[in-house]
Amino acid sequence: MSTAIHARPEAHDTILYINGVTVTFDGFKALNSLSFFVEAGELRAIIGPNGAGKTTMMDVVTGKTRPDRGDVVFNGGVDLTELDEARIANLGIGRKFQKPTVFDSQTVQANLELALAGNRGVLSSLFFRLSHPQRARIEQVLETVSLTHARNRLAGSLSHGQKQWLEIGMLLMQDPHLLLVDEPVAGMTDAETEQTAALLKEINKSHTVVVVEHDMTFVRALECPVTVLHEGRVLAEGSLADVQANKQVVEVYLGR
Ligand code: ADP
Ligand code: MG
Repeated sequence: MSTAIHARPEAHDTILYINGVTVTFDGFKALNSLSFFVEAGELRAIIGPNGAGKTTMMDVVTGKTRPDRGDVVFNGGVDLTELDEARIANLGIGRKFQKPTVFDSQTVQANLELALAGNRGVLSSLFFRLSHPQRARIEQVLETVSLTHARNRLAGSLSHGQKQWLEIGMLLMQDPHLLLVDEPVAGMTDAETEQTAALLKEINKSHTVVVVEHDMTFVRALECPVTVLHEGRVLAEGSLADVQANKQVVEVYLGR
């Protein structure tokens, strides 16, 4: 059940409202009163050193980890700290983990069909007939992730970059309102990295996207606001140029 909380004015128009969130692992604060906000329609990059709490932040938003305290509010009124992972996914929050988890022994197109079948499971989805709009959606997503030409290839034969795009495509099949993407370009070639930035910008035309990444060339190509995390909280926020000019950011992260 989605719980309407007493929304503060700031929470009202925000698609993702994280306020005062603390997560403790064995006494260590992975998130330490983390607060930041994402407006609907935004593309936002989250950067910060290893261990800053970036993945834990995504775990909290998707219900994998419960915060000790703080507010996590979706779409101006849904308290995500009250919901389990399946319910949060059903609200339209899609998450891309670091490692691709496509079905290697299925074709590219079958992977997208399976994503559409959602939690119906692999077996029952074999008997799942696609509607005309669903077929159209598959064509559209194949185009978006540049895999139309590879639709009949086994996913296992794709390059690392193409697998990442396929997985992003699988998320798009669910048409999420908010897409969380954790380190998508790790291990990609320069050309794949550039293409991934273009892909996320394209997706951002119709979805809110939050992307965690270390690769500064990639973050620059996104041309979007940047939030810098350090020790479980926000150290700086602004354009990439702003945060690169921030002395504290240089000291703890970029200057290393
Ligand atoms: P980032 O993604 O920014 O590199 P993480 O969110 O993965 O950072 O981790 C933040 C801190 O929390 C790290 O010090 C990490 O070791 C710790 N941490 C994350 N998950 C767990 C866990 N399940 N148990 C114990 N410590 C954890
Ligand atoms: Mg991480």
